Parts: sequence; structure tokens; C-alpha cells
Amino acid sequence: MMQPAGFPAPTGRTNAARDGRGRLFGAFVMIAALVFGAPSQADDALSVVATTGMIADAAREIGGESVSVRALMGAGVDPHSYRQTRSDIVALVQADLVLSHGLYLEAQMEEFLRRLSTRQTVVAVAETLSRERLLGHADYENKFDPHVWMDPAMWSDVVLAIRDALTEVRPAEGEGFARRAQAYLAEIEKLGRYAEAATETVPEDSRVLLTAHDAFAYFGRAYAFEVIGIQGISTESEAGLRRISDLVDLLVERDISAVFVESSVPERNVRALVEGAASRGQDVRVAGTLYSDAMGAPGTYEGTYLGMIDHNVTTIVRALGGQAPAQGMAGRLGEGGP
Ligand SMILES: [Zn+2]
Repeated sequence: MMQPAGFPAPTGRTNAARDGRGRLFGAFVMIAALVFGAPSQADDALSVVATTGMIADAAREIGGESVSVRALMGAGVDPHSYRQTRSDIVALVQADLVLSHGLYLEAQMEEFLRRLSTRQTVVAVAETLSRERLLGHADYENKFDPHVWMDPAMWSDVVLAIRDALTEVRPAEGEGFARRAQAYLAEIEKLGRYAEAATETVPEDSRVLLTAHDAFAYFGRAYAFEVIGIQGISTESEAGLRRISDLVDLLVERDISAVFVESSVPERNVRALVEGAASRGQDVRVAGTLYSDAMGAPGTYEGTYLGMIDHNVTTIVRALGGQAPAQGMAGRLGEGGP
């Protein structure tokens, strides 16, 4: 089960600047390893570094007090453009286990993670999903859509991979990991049932989800929504004026009146779309902020995976004419969140 980051072997690119930067990071990893020493001893809490908040959340739930987990990317951080900082590198080389997402989500960290995997246990947890369950995308050739957390059923299998990675590194704690993973999976299953029941109440012709970037394809597949992102699957490429004007046409033609912004993507494209539609006499409102690629503020319910998806489902359903309680499946939305 344990495997290096699962990224393809180096392609032999000869970009000098890229190689130079790679060497620099390599040297820094070496120095950090010398200065800060080896991973902690076996009797300490297992030190885990996760790239995204969603992975870190699962590792905390499963690990309980046996693990100490650090997430590199906090609330509002875009994983497609995130680059490791020096303090991240120190944490990564000191960790007993590094959990990355994979599927090219951490595009700017890919090369660094590949190098790190030659001296560290790095598990790309979403790479464990079978390829048949993954979606592709026209503008993302030879790659899969990485946003698998949007479907609780798929995320459950990633949670199992996180459990397995923890167990592999700390087999003595395997029983506790298994027990807590089971309890957490039951919560995710409950979330999935809520999402299914709530989304079913949205009228058929309102099931169009238009957001800042294409993060909701798995959500759309699971709950029968048509999803449209202004930017593509990654936020790496900018949306052109042409794309905005095509989407304005679509809003007018289809009489779509609600679109969504995302907490980890700047709002300007969505605003441009709303203004473009208004100039054509189509009244479109921004119906809420969704958590696409990052969870909400730490310490809030929305700052957990369960709260993140509950918020998204509840916001989408209520905005598009369906029925869901304002405080979500557990009455906890907005407790201390945005
Ligand atoms: Zn994304």
C-alpha cells in the first residue's frame, strides 16, 4: 500500500531555471534534515504533515491523540497554485508521514513532493482510487479531475487510504486507527445521505451549478447537477473575455439566476459574469460562497470536512429552490463560521 507519491517519473525536461530551482530546494531539504534532525521517536505522537485541510482533518479524526497533524494549506488557500514555504519544508522533512492528495492537485508542489518521496514516506492518498471512478476534463489532457472530496462516497475511500497509511507507519496503533476511522466513515455516510435527500428537492430545471472554477464535477455526478466552472479544473489558467461572454449567453438562454463564488478563488470572474448578464437584462445573483478547494476557518464547523460539505449542499439546495434547513444537517452551520 505504501508507495512513493505516485507521480510519473521525471520527463527529462531540460528547463534550466526549473532544474536550478529544484536543486536549490533539494539543498534546502538536506540542510533542514541536518539541522532539525530525524523524524521523532516511536514513543512520541506520530507526526503527520498533510498538504490540504481535508486530508489533515481525516488524519486527525483517525489518529486521535496518537498523531499530531499539520496542514500546509489553510482556509482560503488555492492548492493548484500553492508552493511550499521554508517552514513547510522543515515540517515535511521532520514528519514521520507525509500525506499528499495527488492527481496533480498540488501542481506547484509536484516536483518537490516527488523529490521528497525519495527520502520520506509520502503517500498520495487520492491516487489510490481506481481510475474508472475518476473523471477527466477536456482542458486537462491526460490528467484526472482531482476534486474527489466533493463526493462523500469517493472521499470515504480516500479516508480508508489515510487509515492504511497511518497503520503502515504505526502498526501498533492500528486497532485505534481502525475504530476511529469506522466512526468517522459513519459520519461521512450520514453526510452523504443528507446530501442526497436535500439535493433531490431541487427542481429538475434548476439543477445547474455555476461556480468560479470546475471543482464540482464529482458533486454533479453524485447528485445529478450540471456543473459549469468559469475557469477550468485548475485555477492555473485565466478565464478569457470570450469565456465570460459565452457564459453570459448561457445564463440568458437558460434563464439561470443564481451563481456561486468560492472561498479559495478570487471573485472577479463571477462578478464580471453577473454584470455581463445584468447588461443583457438577466438578473443573476451571487447565491453564496462555496468551499471548493479549502475548508472554512479553523475551529469552526465549516473548518471541518463534514461542515464544509454540509455548508455547500445546504447553500446550493436553498439557493436553487430546494429545501434544506438553514443550519444544515446537524444544526451547526454558521455557529462560528463565515
Ligand atoms: Zn480546484
